[in-house]
Amino acid sequence: MDAPFFRNSFLRHLAVLLPLLLSAMGASYETANFTVHAPTVESAQQFAETAEQCRRNLALLWLGTTLPDWSAKCPVKVHAGKDLGAGGRTSFVFENGEVFDWEMEIQGSHERILDSVLPHEITHMILASHFRKPVPRWLDEGMATSVEHQSEKANYRRMLRHFLQSNVQRCFPLNRMVAMKEYPSADPMPFYAQGFSLVEYLLEMGQQYDEHEHRRLVRFAQSASQTGDWQSALQEYYGIPNLGELQLSWISWVDSGLSALPMAADVPNVASPDGEATANVPVALTSARPPSGKSVYDRRVKTIPTQWNDEKAIAIPVSFGRDVVVR
Ligand SMILES: [Zn+2]
Repeated sequence: MDAPFFRNSFLRHLAVLLPLLLSAMGASYETANFTVHAPTVESAQQFAETAEQCRRNLALLWLGTTLPDWSAKCPVKVHAGKDLGAGGRTSFVFENGEVFDWEMEIQGSHERILDSVLPHEITHMILASHFRKPVPRWLDEGMATSVEHQSEKANYRRMLRHFLQSNVQRCFPLNRMVAMKEYPSADPMPFYAQGFSLVEYLLEMGQQYDEHEHRRLVRFAQSASQTGDWQSALQEYYGIPNLGELQLSWISWVDSGLSALPMAADVPNVASPDGEATANVPVALTSARPPSGKSVYDRRVKTIPTQWNDEKAIAIPVSFGRDVVVR
């Protein structure tokens, strides 16, 4: 093989391979609080700027004020692809009243990352920055889910309905749920769906007091988690006397609201007509094992049941309400 032929062949292969290699390496973009690693510079910039917007706007929503910049940027690793299910993992350390060492790894379609995954994960970070200690999990997850896109929230409402209708033993009586400091070791989706629904209910209850129902919920969470007295906090912030009453009124609210749910065909990413779930493909998040000493949030990719019961009314087994402590 003569040298010019070898050189031309090499250059031709390089011209083909270089874009692939650069694409595999990805690109980074930095803002004041985030360093985003994504497949392209353009997408890294868009995710990073959206993360900053979420950080500012969601702090105003939940706290009524913006946060000062963190002392170190949060690295964010993004896996974007149209067939990837929306999900992520965020970890950080609480120590001596401080929170730091942020890390985030997220995945999903480009659109869902922007309108659901980033708002969800950044709500966890805002609450951690405000509380400086772990927030009760059901509230933390419910609040984070409440700022996702309508289609994601519709998925959770359907999931809850599915669990309540056909598999109620997978749900949690509220007296057990409020005491949970960690995710369920197995079968976490009922926990997510129930936490989100309870947060939606409390946000709606809060609207009767003033227009700051999100801030009211944060104050309720602060009071209940400081004292451990959920009953007094419920009475003070929502006029609900105890957890038993909350469970009964919440179930009644879920039941009465079912007919208002959008139909499956209106909601993307629920199920295709042949019953195959779409946008539901997990990738292996590289840090599946929790780093020692860190609080880890989510570490899950949502899986959506492919069969839904769309009857308008549900019959909730009475036994679901029997495990509630009513003081
Ligand atoms: Zn979460």
